[in-house]
Amino acid sequence: MEKFKLMALPYGAEALEPVISRQTIEFHYGKHLAGYVNNLNGLIEGSGFEQATLEEIVCRSSGGVFNNAAQILNHELYFEQFTGEQAKQQPTDVLAEAIVRDFGSFESFKEEFEKKGATLFGSGWVWLSADKAGKLVITQEPNAANPIQKELTPLLTFDVWEHAYYLDYQNRRPAHLAALWQIIDWNVVENRYKF
Ligand code: MN
Repeated sequence: MEKFKLMALPYGAEALEPVISRQTIEFHYGKHLAGYVNNLNGLIEGSGFEQATLEEIVCRSSGGVFNNAAQILNHELYFEQFTGEQAKQQPTDVLAEAIVRDFGSFESFKEEFEKKGATLFGSGWVWLSADKAGKLVITQEPNAANPIQKELTPLLTFDVWEHAYYLDYQNRRPAHLAALWQIIDWNVVENRYKF
């Protein structure tokens, strides 16, 4: 059963260099994400989730089905938010105003986001999300967890699994996180914030 397909990358494998190398994309997207898609397709039949969307599976499943489905959703949100074009360096309009309202300034937001990514123990993801009222929150999610499990809307995420940065940065996770701002496509992130 091939219910789930590997997303297409919206840029070439070398487009994010030097922040993320072609080699890291080839492994992270081409091996790790492709592996989660293959695994989920192998697990879905007989799971009761054959007709469910990825989001529904993430909110209702557990075990291997959950882990692989959530990692697909996480990585789709992750890879879609980057660009190799000369991106604008910070959000504008409604999202920019919400960041200042909830974190004091864009610089304070970045500092807290990087810190939460750097201090997450082991594997996982740091997320910027919106609650139902539009308030912004930063959460650390272990392993494959996604903020939609907490009824939050995910807006931006940094992957802190070692496979996301070890080829390029080895153990220097904070340096990797600090560099990622250069390739964020803020138009994509703004479009996820519907307030
Ligand atoms: Mn990853």
